[in-house]
Amino acid sequence: MSLIQSRSPQKPDDVVAERAPVTPDGVRKLADSVRVAQDAWRRRDPSGRAAALSGAADRLRARAGEAAALIVREVGKPVVEANAEVSRAAAILDYYAQSCFAAIGDLLAPTLPANQPGLLFTERRPRGVAGLITPWNFPLAIPLWKAAPALATGNGVLLKPSPEALACGELVAGLFDGLLPDDLLHLVPGGADTGQAVVGAADVVSFTGSATVGRGVAVAAVRAGLPVQAEMGGQNAAVVLPDADPATTATMLAGAAMGYAGQKCTATRRIIVVGDATALTEALVAAVAGLRVGDPADAGVAVGPVITDAARRRVLDGVAAARAAGGRVLTRLTSPGDGLYVAPVLLDSVDPGHPVACEETFGPLASIFTVSDPAAAAALVNHVRYGLVTSVHGSDIGRLFEVVRAIDTGLIRVNTPTTGVDFHAPFGGEKASSQGPREQGTAALDFYTSLRTITLCTPPPNPAEEAA
Ligand code: NAD
Repeated sequence: MSLIQSRSPQKPDDVVAERAPVTPDGVRKLADSVRVAQDAWRRRDPSGRAAALSGAADRLRARAGEAAALIVREVGKPVVEANAEVSRAAAILDYYAQSCFAAIGDLLAPTLPANQPGLLFTERRPRGVAGLITPWNFPLAIPLWKAAPALATGNGVLLKPSPEALACGELVAGLFDGLLPDDLLHLVPGGADTGQAVVGAADVVSFTGSATVGRGVAVAAVRAGLPVQAEMGGQNAAVVLPDADPATTATMLAGAAMGYAGQKCTATRRIIVVGDATALTEALVAAVAGLRVGDPADAGVAVGPVITDAARRRVLDGVAAARAAGGRVLTRLTSPGDGLYVAPVLLDSVDPGHPVACEETFGPLASIFTVSDPAAAAALVNHVRYGLVTSVHGSDIGRLFEVVRAIDTGLIRVNTPTTGVDFHAPFGGEKASSQGPREQGTAALDFYTSLRTITLCTPPPNPAEEAA
């Protein structure tokens, strides 16, 4: 079996990690060992589980500089964003450490005979082995926002990181060394075969990645009778109402569309302007021109490289196809230097049905549309098969709510960019962006547990004793 390899996108000759993939048979054996370890872990008292998670958070904070540098090197994330991801990953571990002490059920009024008092209650139990399949773009935060709630609720973990983020996956697994019982968490590097084997061996499946792969994972999990959540791509819009300030809105949108070379599921890909788009378009062109493109290790850089040559080709081909169909490029099409850099591209005059405006081109590419009223803006937002996140910008609260109410996305952000995630709130999309229950916050504690309802009553009274 050929080795899997991750390479630094800013220096593609730099091989960051190289490993043999775990075979499907290897995945099954590791799942068996996780299941044995999980049986003891689920009985561990909450303070024992919390100590392991907060110990991992402390370890990550102590290695923050090294972790951020690895993210920069392996996936080309600009260093300011890499630092923020490390802080967030540690905060996620702390949050779920505390969740070990949360209530694990509810007490309800029982329906019992008067002479047999008792209790009616619910109890959440871990599902067993959590199979976690993750993408490369948030290589610490996403594995941890799945693994931390799974462990907190008493599950074991099989974590399959993206081949493009192999070394970051190893860093995540290493955070728990010596803090968790042996075999409770195993990293299973590999590609599609390894991922499919994880679905086959797990008791609960959580996936984040592209819509095509996610749908296949969800179907396979449902066929096997497993609970599954799949968080997938987006074609996210920003709606700009006539009373939004063009300059501040443009700065926000330029960052949300082009930051990290547009490689976030929550990146803004369509900018829908209600009324005259002239002032906003000018401000956007200026704001995009002000974003520095280049080495992601440089603190002033907002746009690093895209992850692979195939990703770069997809963006350039998308731009060429949009231009051939009448789209107009508003920004300078110069790619800085060698490697996998793509200059941010703003388009207008694109047909809303064109693939660059309907599908996910995972790169620094956004299109501007003009509509006449808020209802038309909401209709255009909803026109695509995805439904992850929308931002709405303006001042009139009535107008803002009119748009918010008409939009079919799982996340809606008013006067703040589409990008940005609160780990303590439910996260997920509608339509092709999401399948199954939400991630993060307390929704994750529900997902990694099954709920049973218990009726507990005192023994029936002895008729002889009652008569006496
Ligand atoms: P991807 O779908 O190519 O890969 C995701 C993971 O699935 C990887 O670990 C990969 O090895 C694995 N995989 C591939 N084929 C598989 C198969 N047949 N069975 C099981 N596993 C398989 O996605 P990517 O390129 O790593 O990440 C980018 C995508 O992720 C974008 O579409 C982006 O929008 C999405 N994403 C979504 C969210 C969200 O929360 N909605 C967050 C981040 C990224």
